[in-house]
Amino acid sequence: MSLTFSCFASLSQQLPSQVHARSSSSGGLEKVKNLITRTGIPSTITSPLDSLQKGNWVKLICGASFEDVVDIRNLSLVYTLAGVDCIDCAAEASVVNAVNDGIEAARGIIPIRRPWVMISVNDNEDLHFRKAEFDPDDCPTDCSRPCENVCPADAISHSGKAGVSKGGVLAERCYGCGRCLPICPYDKIRAVTYIRDVDATAQLLKQDGVDAIEIHTSGRQAESFQQLWNGLGDSIDKLRLVAVSLPDMGELTVPAMNSMYVTMKVNLRCLNLWQLDGRPMSGDIGRGATREAIKFALHLASTRDKPKGFLQLAGGTNAHTVEGLKRERLFQTTSISEKLNGGERALNSFEPSHALISGVAFGGYARKIVGRVLRSLQSEHGYARLEDCPRHLVDAVTQALALVGTVKCYNER
Ligand code: SF4
Ligand code: SF4
Repeated sequence: MSLTFSCFASLSQQLPSQVHARSSSSGGLEKVKNLITRTGIPSTITSPLDSLQKGNWVKLICGASFEDVVDIRNLSLVYTLAGVDCIDCAAEASVVNAVNDGIEAARGIIPIRRPWVMISVNDNEDLHFRKAEFDPDDCPTDCSRPCENVCPADAISHSGKAGVSKGGVLAERCYGCGRCLPICPYDKIRAVTYIRDVDATAQLLKQDGVDAIEIHTSGRQAESFQQLWNGLGDSIDKLRLVAVSLPDMGELTVPAMNSMYVTMKVNLRCLNLWQLDGRPMSGDIGRGATREAIKFALHLASTRDKPKGFLQLAGGTNAHTVEGLKRERLFQTTSISEKLNGGERALNSFEPSHALISGVAFGGYARKIVGRVLRSLQSEHGYARLEDCPRHLVDAVTQALALVGTVKCYNER
């Protein structure tokens, strides 16, 4: 059973007296404020639009299928304090509420500008929109449970919750990375894919607290994309940004982007962005996971005739992504040189004053580094609001600042 945000609210409402007794809240929050003030974030942070133009845009990806509202609320709090420009989450009202609650909690600590909230949907089957499933009653009792160890989201539990579940995959935590599927020696785990309902998405977009949408597509099925776009109708009119997330299809990439842009531009009244999805859901695996996103960025940056729109990396992104962009001379630059027969010519961004690559989205890696702190918070205090446990909040913000700072360059100012 999914843990809803109202469950979280009632859980946290039950906790305050215990939590405040354990923490010197005002002293701890002062430490957080000091930490954040020392980095200079409040005075130097740019608006999301400025960030896109300057090339220091950072998006937190909570996960298109990740629906644990307790973690999502705390992640949103931490990464808002760290200065992200956008928080991308599942297209579910309870998840959107959790994101906005985390943002407002952060703004209650320091008067930081609000990041945009983006919901993610798919036009067809997509790796980001699936859940693993198995029946623990079918598992041999002597299985060493490699599935539990491999799961990066702590989404597999054999203990279950008394009277609630008998264990297996915790659906709200599974984000579909697929790592458990091949590791089961008895082939007991299956993946269940789904497509977000377009009418429900259109309703959600009309609510306050949603600023952007991201459409995940393979880029190969123009008809599915068109159907989804038509189904969204006038719900996109109030948005600030429409993003399309797509894989590198080599020579087919730019023609697919142009075809989707033709579909969108008829009624696109806001900014648009192309999310270059290198190696999906792998940033937490290690340094090399970011290579494909860098390669994709280089391919797009050096391609003429692409449609209008900001370019942003995702898929395998981590603390090494900016190093890779710098190596390719793609970081916060407005043009790169193209080698011709015996000469060179500049390839510019779609607007000469805009950065060629607008920024980076961090998903699994961002959740992993802060997730360690959230697990510690949970084991010490049960489900709790992070700001009620200042020591944990400082730890989490320190981790987040180090990652977001690779793009925002806080320490270089
Ligand atoms: S390993 Fe990945 S797919 Fe399997 S349960 Fe965990 S998050 Fe879900
Ligand atoms: S690895 Fe397979 S058989 Fe073993 S506990 Fe996990 S799902 Fe069950």
